[in-house]
Amino acid sequence: MEDSQRTILSVKDLRVSMDTYDGELQAVRGVSFEIKEGEALVIVGESGCGKSVTAQSILRLNPEPPARIKSGEISLDGIDIIQADEKKMQQIRGSLAGMIFQDPMTSLNPTMTVGRQIGETLEIHQKVKKHGRLQMAVDLLSAVRIPGAAERVKQYPGAFSGGMRQRALIAAAIACKPKLLIADEPTTALDVTIQAQIIDLLRSIQKSNGMSILLITHDLAVAASIAQRIAVMYAGKIVEIGSAREIFHHPKHPYTWGLMNSIPSPDQDQNSELQTIGGTPPRLVNPSPGCGFAPRCPYAMRICLETEPEQQEVAGDHQCACWLLHPGAPKVERAAKEGILIAG
Ligand code: SF4
Repeated sequence: MEDSQRTILSVKDLRVSMDTYDGELQAVRGVSFEIKEGEALVIVGESGCGKSVTAQSILRLNPEPPARIKSGEISLDGIDIIQADEKKMQQIRGSLAGMIFQDPMTSLNPTMTVGRQIGETLEIHQKVKKHGRLQMAVDLLSAVRIPGAAERVKQYPGAFSGGMRQRALIAAAIACKPKLLIADEPTTALDVTIQAQIIDLLRSIQKSNGMSILLITHDLAVAASIAQRIAVMYAGKIVEIGSAREIFHHPKHPYTWGLMNSIPSPDQDQNSELQTIGGTPPRLVNPSPGCGFAPRCPYAMRICLETEPEQQEVAGDHQCACWLLHPGAPKVERAAKEGILIAG
């Protein structure tokens, strides 16, 4: 991605907390990243790492309370999202940025036809008249590769399979040609074949519309199939970020190594066990000082438990926060696992 390309989304030092009965849960702890025009950035990490809270903050979709944006900046196409009121956010959602969610089975209203649901976005944001809306909904369903779109547009979601519902949701999300599409675990509820079709569809829309994509996933293999850049999140922070090529060929963070080693190889024996990362993510109420990954990290040193590592430049735009990058740290290499394919 060239530096001269315009930045669509800029997030700087974002901190989001949730007020819980246990105290303040620090879900997002100083996250910064940018997405350029036409670029796909994937945030990858285990559940509870703060990736969905980060994504939903961009459209202010986290319920406030209990969520609170404590500090930081979010600029979407030059608009200050943190200062925007609800009226402004309603204009932005669906027009400047579309969003699709994990569960296509519950994200559509079962009592409205699919065409009417797609048409609603066009009516709200582009004031398209009824007949025009129907035709545009048919065109959108065709664009997301739903066969027999002219008939399908009149049907209710109950007549759609899971994969077709996700396509219909993508059609609604791109109806007003948003500059950014946020996709939060869009393939998790789908089987592997449909997953691949949805990712392929997102890639082709990204190419034809010049749209930027922010995709959230726990699955590094999904990230590999679409990302130009990858941000690895752990315990509310980005611990490693860089081009997909850099992250897959020269990963530096032990957590990224763990995620990569847990991707099954194409030639892996079906009966052999997958490698997993031992332990569980930390609770983010009163998080411990030091590196959040230390209790699970086989390379943890004393300093890791005491002082948080800063982001360091590894190469170009590849950055990583780990004490192993310190010149005085022991040299540790990851045993590379073969067979991971990276998107174009
Ligand atoms: Fe492991 Fe220390 Fe690096 Fe954290 S900073 S990932 S504990 S080596």
